Amino acid sequence: MSETLASQVAAGEVVERPASVIKELVENSLDAGAHTISVEIQRGGIALIKVTDDGCGMSKEDVTSSVLRHATSKLLTQEDLFCITQLGFRGEALPSIASVSRLKIGTREHNALEGWEILIEGGKFLEPRTSGISPGTSIEVGELFYNTPARRQFLKSKETETAYIEHQLHLHALSFPNIRFIFKKDGASIFDLPATSDLRTRIAILTDRRTAQMLIPIETTYGPGITITGYLLPPSEGRRNKKSQFTFLNHRPIDDLLVSRAIRDGYGGFTAGLHPSIYLFLEVDPGLVDVNVHPSKKEVRFRRPSDIVSTIIEAISNTLTERTRQNFPESNPLALTPVEIIAPSIPTKIPDEITTSPQKNQKSQEHKEHITPNQTRTPLPLPLPLSPLVKPIPLPATQPTLHATLDAPATRRQGNNNGFHFIGILQNNYALFENKEGLALLHPKAARERIIFEQLMTAEHSGMPSQMLLAPFIIELDPRDFTLVEEMIPYFDHAGISISPFGQKTMRVESLPTLIKSSDAKRFILDIIDRMTSPDQRKKAGKIAYETFATGIAQKASFSGIASPEESQELLNQLLSCEVPYCTPTGTPTLIMYSIPEINRKFGLSR
Ligand code: ADP
Ligand code: MG
Repeated sequence: MSETLASQVAAGEVVERPASVIKELVENSLDAGAHTISVEIQRGGIALIKVTDDGCGMSKEDVTSSVLRHATSKLLTQEDLFCITQLGFRGEALPSIASVSRLKIGTREHNALEGWEILIEGGKFLEPRTSGISPGTSIEVGELFYNTPARRQFLKSKETETAYIEHQLHLHALSFPNIRFIFKKDGASIFDLPATSDLRTRIAILTDRRTAQMLIPIETTYGPGITITGYLLPPSEGRRNKKSQFTFLNHRPIDDLLVSRAIRDGYGGFTAGLHPSIYLFLEVDPGLVDVNVHPSKKEVRFRRPSDIVSTIIEAISNTLTERTRQNFPESNPLALTPVEIIAPSIPTKIPDEITTSPQKNQKSQEHKEHITPNQTRTPLPLPLPLSPLVKPIPLPATQPTLHATLDAPATRRQGNNNGFHFIGILQNNYALFENKEGLALLHPKAARERIIFEQLMTAEHSGMPSQMLLAPFIIELDPRDFTLVEEMIPYFDHAGISISPFGQKTMRVESLPTLIKSSDAKRFILDIIDRMTSPDQRKKAGKIAYETFATGIAQKASFSGIASPEESQELLNQLLSCEVPYCTPTGTPTLIMYSIPEINRKFGLSR
């Protein structure tokens, strides 16, 4: 394999789109000790990306070797690998970018009389020339992916790519408020963030006034080798996606399941399926984390995950209860409720099962450690942001576990159904229950979808159980989809689907997740492909590919109808033991509640 090709392969991991180029270049500027970093783009970064810094700059030798593979100046010894404090350490970014673009680097060390300029095209470079650049480094990436059309085709509109870039820059700006960041798009200035020592000021500039006013400082919390700081917003400000959830580990943005679950648990399970809005900064002893597990370094492996989880939970819940005590007197706990809350009481003690939910069914070895959550935590008398259709249901005193299998009524748990009694089946399709709050209708297909989805998500790290097909089959794809599917083979694999190219436009499918009936196989695969290639999903492909698969599989594997009272009861129990019981992964309600007051009102009776 030639050097250029090797770099292009590596580029596939490091450089997905203009935003990932910017991430690498800005990280390099940060590592170089820059105080001001300026980013300019043209046409969504596809035509041009230019990152200029006032960092240490490079000598002639440095700049020549910077574009050679694994020529990092940062990783010196084997021990360093276990103790990474700098952002870059692989020495892969510049060569990768160079192999898929026209690259120009201008650089000058602060004490040098002259600077150097070097041009690289498709991995081939010309001798450095002297240049009159000011101290620091300026890197221009022109025509990204000009020589790898398949990747280029994968890019979205320039508006969308710009949005990714802006998000990426926000992440950098949040991680380093003490650095000035300038962003220009097609010649126009988009922002110029002055350096500040106050994170809140930076957040305020990046969001809006209303949000900034609601920010609650997280109480600085310490765990073994861990310090947690940041800001958070009240539970009512949660969002359907994680767009307003910013998490950083040692100044590196991360997107980690363990952390986001700990955040949700810190909020005490009252986020009703929404993602809390938060700016969470973890400072962790570098020896306790391994950031080397993911090429773009968004996921991390904690050596003591339970410490991380319990410290996050403690930080958030202490912050919120402290705030709550100050702002919302106990006599009027639901003062801010936006929807009518029919749940009479929020339990006075958060059940262990809820606060420890990320540990349920843990898959990877590290995650198996046990957690002792803060038992004395008081709950949050804050609004439950549910849609008006889906009324909150009192949380059970102890939550059943997620282990129940779908087809094993023998494992049925007794008495843990929230006081719901089964009263009947409507139209062979809705199970009806009552409790003292009112009437609940359960939608069996939606409920099954939620249950299967959560079971699949708990299998995320180990991969989905799959079975070989007795008769492998072939599917034909249009060329665009073909390329996309080809790039996503590893994700298919992880989801239990073995798919491989078989000729120019065809793919061969050899195994499927065990949950899928083989008679449905072809339709299922085509559905998944449609889903992955839909304009909406394309951009997310990869990052949340597993979740997309899990959603699709849950949709496919769930079925309508209900056979018996026992089955209804079992379904309800399993549903209530889910982490987000009230809706499917795509937001369809699973359980609709009609409160007695509501029913009375309908009959013209006052409560
Ligand atoms: P890494 O960051 O993993 O070391 P890169 O490929 O990103 O690898 O960069 C290679 C090397 O080029 C860096 O180790 C550093 O020595 C040098 N370099 C890159 N960008 C800059 C910059 N903006 N200022 C100074 N040196 C830089
Ligand atoms: Mg780097």
